Amino acid sequence: MNNFFNSKMDLKGKLLLGKKVTEVSSKCPLATVDVEDNIKNRDWTIKKFGYGPLNPDSPDPGFWEKKANLWSTNVETVKTARCGNCAAFDQSDVVIGCIKKGINETNAADPQDVLDLANLGYCQLFKFKCAATRTCDAWLHGGPIKDEQQKYMPETEVENELTNIVNQLYKASQTHRKQANRLEMLKNSMGVYG
Ligand code: SF4
Repeated sequence: MNNFFNSKMDLKGKLLLGKKVTEVSSKCPLATVDVEDNIKNRDWTIKKFGYGPLNPDSPDPGFWEKKANLWSTNVETVKTARCGNCAAFDQSDVVIGCIKKGINETNAADPQDVLDLANLGYCQLFKFKCAATRTCDAWLHGGPIKDEQQKYMPETEVENELTNIVNQLYKASQTHRKQANRLEMLKNSMGVYG
């Protein structure tokens, strides 16, 4: 690649880096609601910055080894650096709302199911929807971007909050008691996955 293209790519990276969509515009980022724009930016990131792997659940020989060579480390370490903990990975409420809106517009599936299965976020650096379990060569330490409340609520606080709600509901009507039972079951099942 010649110097002209290299400097153009550097400039693009610098312009995009550090800008949160909510600071740039109150509108949803185009790629969250426009499949073609999303695929265009995703394919560009695959080509230029090795976004992948295609299937993070498969060993995909070569993909992780290449990343390990790039970072002069081993495969085990490089696998800890994913979109899900990259500083450009945006899972703030605003952006998640935009992704849901985009999935809704295609009527292809239930947006929450898609979000849960793919663990999607929005890459603020390369402007496309990416999956938490993938990665790319431009991975940035310190992510993801989440709303303050989501980010700093420790697990014990979540559990205490759930317990409080359950206790309040038990004191309420019959309907609320049923809800309390359901919540209690959900709370207990969290221990299974923890
Ligand atoms: S910059 Fe970060 S969030 Fe964007 S594709 Fe690369 S690893 Fe994923």
